[in-house]
Amino acid sequence: MTTAVKQNIKQMIRRGLGWGGFTKPMLKDTVSIFVYHEISENPSRFCEQYNLNIKPKLFAEQMDFIKDHFHVIDPDQLLEGDFAAPAALITFDDGTPGYFHEAVPIMAREGIPSIIFLNMAPIEGELFWSGLITYLTEHDPDFIKVLHDHAPAQAAVPDFLLCDSNIVRDYIESIDFAPVEEKIRAFYGPFAGLSDLDAVRDNPLVFFGNHLYNHYNAAKLSDDELRQQYLLNDQKILHYPNGRSYFAYPFGQPNLCFTDRQTELLRSLGAKAVFSSSGRVNRRGQVASRYDRIGIDASIKTVEDLFGLIQWMNLKTSMGRN
Ligand SMILES: [Zn+2]
Repeated sequence: MTTAVKQNIKQMIRRGLGWGGFTKPMLKDTVSIFVYHEISENPSRFCEQYNLNIKPKLFAEQMDFIKDHFHVIDPDQLLEGDFAAPAALITFDDGTPGYFHEAVPIMAREGIPSIIFLNMAPIEGELFWSGLITYLTEHDPDFIKVLHDHAPAQAAVPDFLLCDSNIVRDYIESIDFAPVEEKIRAFYGPFAGLSDLDAVRDNPLVFFGNHLYNHYNAAKLSDDELRQQYLLNDQKILHYPNGRSYFAYPFGQPNLCFTDRQTELLRSLGAKAVFSSSGRVNRRGQVASRYDRIGIDASIKTVEDLFGLIQWMNLKTSMGRN
């Protein structure tokens, strides 16, 4: 079966699952937290390749049907717990420019609040860790060899999640990195800048959260590194009036990208809410040590697609594959 045929079948199954009469009762007393990355007519190759972009027109349509079927809340309301269900919270990760230039104006027209979990390092001009490791693991056979000497390849785990900062730092110090860095920056494209953050700092619909200072896989960090990455970013986020000590794990998959022990550590450092990205819907009123999020992509064109995705993820996670 070709990939295209498989995708079509998957889409049809999801649409069938997404019949509202089936899904709506299930969503009673839930809060669905959706995660986006980039909204752009001209996304970077990185965003294209990892399916992280949605075009502005489709994003506006998604906001319409989400608003029609969910009570859209802001992150402070999520923590206060005082809201009608089914509720939805719109979140973004990383800090690419489309959030500020495309998504915020679209959401402003509908009065929809959102939180963006920022890595401040690439916003301040440093190399974006996620762009760096995806580029090296795709384009540099010498790096892959070095990586696999330290961390053997694992089926079902992408090579970029095996990277830790020591392996990568030693490797880039051993080569002529400047021309490679240029290619990596072109691959992941522009980031938002401090002026973009300043422009929305007093916008009551926009909140800033913490996504580590750079986009490291937390599971590959020591406790000291995690503490330092969290606290440095937290301090920068709290510089803004709309900054909050709410934290989303980069990459977001339980066990592969973080542990429960790390969640406890982050909470002891002051994180008031911790978010992962393995696709579960949250129950309202649950004692949430961690909220889960559902990734939205360009395959979600109608509310049936969205309900279908929620059902699909529910089936997957109830079979233990989270
Ligand atoms: Zn991210």
